[in-house]
Amino acid sequence: MKKPATHIGTCQACGNVQKLPNGVLSNHGYTKEWGFFNGTCPGAKRAPLEQSCRYVKECIENAQLTIEDIRKQVEEVRQSVSPTVTIQVFVGRKAGGWIWVKGEVNFETKLVSYSVSGQEKSLSLYDLSASQGTKEEIVKKINGRFAESLEKNIVNFERYIAWQQKRIANWAPRELKPV
Ligand SMILES: [Zn+2]
Repeated sequence: MKKPATHIGTCQACGNVQKLPNGVLSNHGYTKEWGFFNGTCPGAKRAPLEQSCRYVKECIENAQLTIEDIRKQVEEVRQSVSPTVTIQVFVGRKAGGWIWVKGEVNFETKLVSYSVSGQEKSLSLYDLSASQGTKEEIVKKINGRFAESLEKNIVNFERYIAWQQKRIANWAPRELKPV
């Protein structure tokens, strides 16, 4: 039986304040602040920050691992000289707006072909402002933008970690607020 919530509490993962049916956070999305996370917040169905900071520590560790993964990916992207590149294309607002997709550079036709939801498409190197230079320079120029966008994500995760560390710096249990 679901007990009606008598109190509200703060999410360990995202800081949202939610009702606590059965003493745990109800389902919710991330706050706008942490918009780089997607979907349902994993802090749901967990104890609120007022009662526990165990999951905060897990969130910090996960974010640190994510940063390491992104750093590795940035390095790979920056070093790649393969004609398989990553480009940003607009797929319509409903389908996700601007997304990063893999594409193949054809240096003869100066086109980058890619497919989105099963449809073959292409973009010219001119449109990507990458028509000049050697093959390697063209590839690096295109991938450089992807690497930069990945690096922006690192900054987001670092900001998130700093925020979480502050929340647990002098952590002690606190009273829950009634609904
Ligand atoms: Zn949350």
